[in-house]
Amino acid sequence: MIRLVRGNTMNQPVRKVRALGLCSGGLDSILSALVLRRQGIDVSWTTFETPFFSSTKARNASALTGIPLKVEKITEIYLNMLQNPPCGYGKYMNPCMDCHALMFRLAGQRMASEGFDFLFSGEVLGQRPMSQTKNSLRYVEKHSGFDGYILRPLSAKKLPETIPEKQGLVNRDRLLGISGRSRKEQMALAEEFDIRDYPAPAGGCLLTDKGFSHRLKDLFEHQETYSEADLHLLRYGRHLRLSPVTKIIVGRTQKDNKQIVGYYDINVDTIIKTKMYAGPTVLVPGGGEKAFIPKAARICAGYTKAPVDRKVTVVVVSPESRETFSVRPLQPSEIQDFLI
Ligand code: SF4
Repeated sequence: MIRLVRGNTMNQPVRKVRALGLCSGGLDSILSALVLRRQGIDVSWTTFETPFFSSTKARNASALTGIPLKVEKITEIYLNMLQNPPCGYGKYMNPCMDCHALMFRLAGQRMASEGFDFLFSGEVLGQRPMSQTKNSLRYVEKHSGFDGYILRPLSAKKLPETIPEKQGLVNRDRLLGISGRSRKEQMALAEEFDIRDYPAPAGGCLLTDKGFSHRLKDLFEHQETYSEADLHLLRYGRHLRLSPVTKIIVGRTQKDNKQIVGYYDINVDTIIKTKMYAGPTVLVPGGGEKAFIPKAARICAGYTKAPVDRKVTVVVVSPESRETFSVRPLQPSEIQDFLI
């Protein structure tokens, strides 16, 4: 018979307790895993990728600590939740409570299929005003489908005992009781673990960004379906809505122009570039309505250094044709109302 132990100290067949954590890559994620590992628990991480947040920080945390990490792309299932989160949005388009519930649900499925004993995360009670209150943590747990199996090692002593603690798989005495917004205790713990190189807290989720959230809301309001490219493009350039079905994206910088070209689909989109004068790359996702292409061309010309009274040559490439227009620039001050 296999005996479950936290550390392999007995001279008999044993299976280590295995815990699966959600990893954002921040200090709290790292510490929560190290607190468990210090007890002899075998820890692994899971992290998720969508066009709204990446796995970069989690990958760095895995490299720093040696804790194995599995990265899963979850755009489709995430979008289903994001369009109608039962608990609503935070300040912008961030559905933090339902986002966490979904992440724990997915991690829980992995826990069940890969034989982990419980789930954990670096959440700290009271650190974030909305998503880390006792009620919020409870909501997440209930809606994840893994009630009782989610341990928050950094705040465990301030939270109800979880099933793995009751089962003796985790020593509650060696968990922590951190709460609140101060990071002092985490910094001290980081020193104890000799963790010096960690990212600053917060940041990294585009759903908490005001401008990005406006554009996403606009997309949801005007399109029934969208591609991953549509979502990635929300990060770059100026977005202008010319009609309910025509939106244009105007590169602001060389980097924007490069990204816009990178996500340009020649089979669907229309792209506009100036000739003679250096100007932005303008993308019309999905091609838009033909009637609005001249206006898009004039907006493109308006972001060049051409004199206001000088006509500018622009090239418009759509899936069906390549046309050259000579247009009078529309000045940026004339298009403020179209900005999303
Ligand atoms: S900030 Fe973004 S990734 Fe984090 S819980 Fe909220 S919605 Fe999810």
